Amino acid sequence: GEDFVVTPWEVRGRVDYDKLLQHFGARRLTQAEVSILERYAGEVHPLIRRGFFYAHRDFDAILKWHGEGKPWALYTGRGPSGPVHIGHMVPWILLKWFSDKFGLEVYFQMTDDEKFYDDPDMKLDEATGWAYENALDIIALGFTPDKLHLIVDTKDIKPLYPIAVRVAKKLTWNTVKATFGFTDSTNIGLIFYPSLQIAVAFLPTELRGQPTPVLIPCAIDQDPYFRLARDIADGLGYPKPATLYSKFIMALTGESKMSASNPDSAIYTIDDEKTVKRKIMNAFTGGRPTAEEQRKYGGDPDICPVFHYHMLFDPDDASVEKIRQDCKSGAMLCGECKLRLYEKITRFLKDHRERREKARGRVDEYRISVKL
Ligand code: SF4
Repeated sequence: GEDFVVTPWEVRGRVDYDKLLQHFGARRLTQAEVSILERYAGEVHPLIRRGFFYAHRDFDAILKWHGEGKPWALYTGRGPSGPVHIGHMVPWILLKWFSDKFGLEVYFQMTDDEKFYDDPDMKLDEATGWAYENALDIIALGFTPDKLHLIVDTKDIKPLYPIAVRVAKKLTWNTVKATFGFTDSTNIGLIFYPSLQIAVAFLPTELRGQPTPVLIPCAIDQDPYFRLARDIADGLGYPKPATLYSKFIMALTGESKMSASNPDSAIYTIDDEKTVKRKIMNAFTGGRPTAEEQRKYGGDPDICPVFHYHMLFDPDDASVEKIRQDCKSGAMLCGECKLRLYEKITRFLKDHRERREKARGRVDEYRISVKL
């Protein structure tokens, strides 16, 4: 039996990230590659420095490409089926950093079609509505319309469709069935859908009329899509997309992944302060059953979602290291640690919510079709 399962749709069990790399065939990020990044960017983002983004395909090649003065772009996506939680924002924060450091344009696909195909109860208008609502969280990161190109699939298909058609011709039923686990009862929308997700990887090349590879920062479970994209790129005359893979965001409840069916497992950007506090104070921890034991033996930050969020949202290395030490030594108890996290997250969310509301009504300015 397998002790863990990872697909684009589910994560179960305790994940062995090394085994996962072997399974997918991606490479661990090396210090040499991080040093090259540092040379170009002037710094290394904490999410990379702390090993949260830990693996890749051709990240070294795209840095080399950059060094030769050639154009590249960023690509990521979001399945809009509900509110955004702060875990969703983590790769987007890195995306914004890359965009700023390297002056890159961002192609951001909102897959309202896929969410509609995938969820029997989802209405199409509803999924598209979520795309607009979720776009507020992306714009709130501080993008300007010349750098962010939102693609709402059901609205902005025009530039994508000719590419998707070429992609679809290269993908057989056998291939997508094996890659995504489709069955005879899978609707044909879902079966076609990978061609659309892959098409965005080739879009910047079409728009610029010259080879423009993309870098895709995402969680490692998205690898199957982009492995396919890489397999067919050559045959279609496009450069292969590069990827940068993260580990998974821990659920506050201690489960292996956050789930929409359990809203307490994640902090949503629209949660009010009271809700955020309740979720953090009720979170699973790596602490001991009693304060006395904790003082004596210390806690385990490695399995603790509270520590995980300190690591993700505190830009100060020394502060994160101090939390780790104070946890392990028993100098700090979980209650205090949680309060400190609550303060950090509240500060982040307060600014975020203001910028988010400012973006309301302005989403169309960021949509790609407006500019075509
Ligand atoms: Fe987690 Fe903080 Fe408790 Fe350590 S002290 S187990 S990091 S909540």
